Amino acid sequence: MQSSLTSFRVAVIGGGPAGLMAAQTLAQGGAQVDVYDAMASVGRKFLLAGRSGMNITHDEPYADFVTRYGASAAPLRPMLDAFGPGAVRDFVHGLGLETFVGTSGRVFPTDMKAAPLLRAWLHRLRESGIRFHMRHRWLGWRDEALCFEAPGDDGGAQDGEGRPAATRDLLVRPDAVVLALGGGSWARLGSDGAWLPWLAARGVAVAPLAPANCGFDVAWSEHFSSRHAGEPLMTVAVIARDGQGQEMRRQGQFVVTRGGVEGSLIYALSAALRDQIAADGQTTIWLDLMPDWSEQRVLDELSRPRGARSMASHLQSRLGIKGVKAGLLRECLSKEQFGDETRLAAGIKRLPVTLLRPRPIDEVISTAGGVRWEALQGTMLKAVPGVFVAGEMIDWEAPTGGYLLTACLAGGVAAARDALAWAAAR
Ligand SMILES: Cc1cc2nc3c(=O)[nH]c(=O)nc-3n(C[C@H](O)[C@H](O)[C@H](O)COP(=O)(O)OP(=O)(O)OC[C@H]3O[C@@H](n4cnc5c(N)ncnc54)[C@H](O)[C@@H]3O)c2cc1C
Repeated sequence: MQSSLTSFRVAVIGGGPAGLMAAQTLAQGGAQVDVYDAMASVGRKFLLAGRSGMNITHDEPYADFVTRYGASAAPLRPMLDAFGPGAVRDFVHGLGLETFVGTSGRVFPTDMKAAPLLRAWLHRLRESGIRFHMRHRWLGWRDEALCFEAPGDDGGAQDGEGRPAATRDLLVRPDAVVLALGGGSWARLGSDGAWLPWLAARGVAVAPLAPANCGFDVAWSEHFSSRHAGEPLMTVAVIARDGQGQEMRRQGQFVVTRGGVEGSLIYALSAALRDQIAADGQTTIWLDLMPDWSEQRVLDELSRPRGARSMASHLQSRLGIKGVKAGLLRECLSKEQFGDETRLAAGIKRLPVTLLRPRPIDEVISTAGGVRWEALQGTMLKAVPGVFVAGEMIDWEAPTGGYLLTACLAGGVAAARDALAWAAAR
């Protein structure tokens, strides 16, 4: 394939993990690759992911791994079969970096950072002849050509926000295109979802972008939030309803924020919670503040004589409940419930918290929505032949824990292979 494709010119738009992996695979297949990105440098969200300990993939039985993609497991499966968790680790090792598996099964680069990985990767991509065009914002199509807002002829001077001071429109007509434009969160890092209406105008079926892996707003009282905002709940379970109304129970950690809740335990349930709020206006979760204890055991402890002690100090001495957990009980139970051992024990095991709305899309970890699977033949847009898509811009979602990056990298490989096969068949 290599020699026959040397005149095959592909534009990859978007230099996140999906676009960079597509570029690498295309170059390995012999294509001439140009990567365009709106920002001054590529991989900005990838770098942000590295700030909080980047999980690149997940170590668990593959049959379980694929189920994390929910309804999109079936269409993603061929991509993951071709480039799954093992391939992701091999890719990192191939860049000269080691990985390790954390206790939760999350796989991290040894230093947990993204910057060394991105540096090594970009070095290799440049060596393979890929050309990078930074500050090239794609604006859609004009006369069937790709139209970019590109830096003008003033030596690349920038305005106060780092954007080119003078710009020109640049029209590019490659043989094929890979779009890897990301979702719609953290717009200041480049992924602003502006492409959605442009694809829709070309007849591509798209779903609106929606927050995924997100926190939620709760109407905490000023008294509670001023005392407990920022405090983590380390050992709790959350009970919520899934799309069929069945109860789901997950144990882990989350954080009380000034106006709500966030953290891995909440993110894990967030898709169902977001959909319930969209349908019903709000939803309820129930907290189990002592997940390793039965309600009867909690009640037995609470029923022991407390003498002149207040219920709050009784809670602390008998059950170790204090701080934010005690605050939550006071916040979510009435005075009467708090003062009655039986009702308090029931509250400790099943404390209702009403979620009002997901956090704004721009601050969430990932987004759902985007190019619908039915708009695709493999990874090619049925409505725009020769244009392939990869990464978070496709309508799938997954929990945190390395699943997002794995599917983005696998999608980049798949889009590139589809583009190479398409070129070879022509
Ligand atoms: C705080 C945070 C932590 C995260 N941690 C993890 C983690 O630990 N593990 C994990 O698996 N995932 C994590 N993620 C998610 C992961 O980073 C994303 O899912 C992934 O980066 C998406 O890759 P992508 O290539 O599809 O898009 P992106 O990385 O968003 O890249 C899209 C690129 O397209 C460019 N672009 C967009 N529009 C245009 C345009 N019109 N013209 C030109 N260029 C354009 C953007 O500038 C950007 O460079 C995290 C996300 C956040 C926000």
